[in-house]
Amino acid sequence: MIASKLPTVGTTIFTVMSKLAADTEAINLSQGFPDFDCDPALVDAVARHMREGRNQYAPMQGIAALREAIAAKYAELYGVSYDAGSEVTVTSGGTEALFDAVAAVVHPGDEVIVFEPCYDSYVPAVELSGGVPVVVSLRYPDYRVPWNEVRAAVTPRTRLVIINSPHNPTATLLSASDIDELASIADRSDLFVLSDEVYEHIIFDGERHESVARHERLRRRSFIVGSFGKTYHVTGWKVGYVVAPAALSAEFRKVHQFVTFATNTPVQHALAEFLAARRGYPELASFYERKRDLFLELISGSRFKALPSRGTYFQLLDYSSISEAPDMEFAVRLTREHGVASIPTSAFLYKQPPPRALRFCFAKKDETLRLAAARLRAL
Ligand code: PMP
Ligand code: GLN
Repeated sequence: MIASKLPTVGTTIFTVMSKLAADTEAINLSQGFPDFDCDPALVDAVARHMREGRNQYAPMQGIAALREAIAAKYAELYGVSYDAGSEVTVTSGGTEALFDAVAAVVHPGDEVIVFEPCYDSYVPAVELSGGVPVVVSLRYPDYRVPWNEVRAAVTPRTRLVIINSPHNPTATLLSASDIDELASIADRSDLFVLSDEVYEHIIFDGERHESVARHERLRRRSFIVGSFGKTYHVTGWKVGYVVAPAALSAEFRKVHQFVTFATNTPVQHALAEFLAARRGYPELASFYERKRDLFLELISGSRFKALPSRGTYFQLLDYSSISEAPDMEFAVRLTREHGVASIPTSAFLYKQPPPRALRFCFAKKDETLRLAAARLRAL
């Protein structure tokens, strides 16, 4: 018998629901990925770099051109200067970046504050480092951060706070005053912050992304995680990054070099060209805002109640006027009997009872959204 290091963990809900969708030929609005292709010029660029022979190990920290383009983006969007040499590291997806940052700072017995609903990789990453997750609940339906509870949860053992905005799965945003609250808590302790900002460019209704990078004091103790999968419609390429002050980045790289060592070389070269030319991300918000609005319009008149989606490519729908069933049961039935797969929010919860709501991904072709909405309207 193996003494499991993650005894309560099974297969991720994204794998479970995508498989159920495939097995039952349902429309898959569960796992978050586009069903349309990326810019063909990006594929051409990768192929060109492959043909030109850029097929061996990249430098451990990422190729210089991509790190420089990432640093330039932070300067342009958030007015901050990260040194491309010592403060930017390219990783094999946001998931690797999150794992490495936790492993870099969390010692056995350290406490890590996470907010539920909580992206599913955070707690296992903490546990594998011997850390103790301390879960603070964001409550349905507005999911605001209860800062008094956060203050009460901080102890001398608190090493890290993990935040995520725009937030998966609730599609809420942290405001500038949320960031100020976090900064005031951090000022009174020596904790680090891990800010998962993989949806930074997918933000709606003219709102501003409150990156931790904008807050100078907080930024100095923060790892910020990004992902090119979301930004360039290439979730399967698994390329992300971390920006963090030099001392934090140095510890981060010690872990990264032994987890993956380096990330796919030709893809880094292609992404560097796109990012340096400011391609893709400036129009991403309006691209997905239109998809959100289309999906909402298509399901209006159904018995699902839409919660506000302010960012990400996810939409929570409350189904309490359709069924009393728990969310996993209802999600399975919706897939099998009605042909639409979604994600139950219970997969992101540790303490609070799950609301009767499911997460739907609208990063889909308009015709996919039309077909799915027609099925949802029929319930
Ligand atoms: N954080 C959040 C909140 C996510 O939703 C995702 C992926 N959907 C990731 C991190 C991981 O990003 P990647 O696919 O680049 O590993
Ligand atoms: N982050 C994606 C989602 O929330 C899925 C990523 C994964 O499957 N690990 O749907």
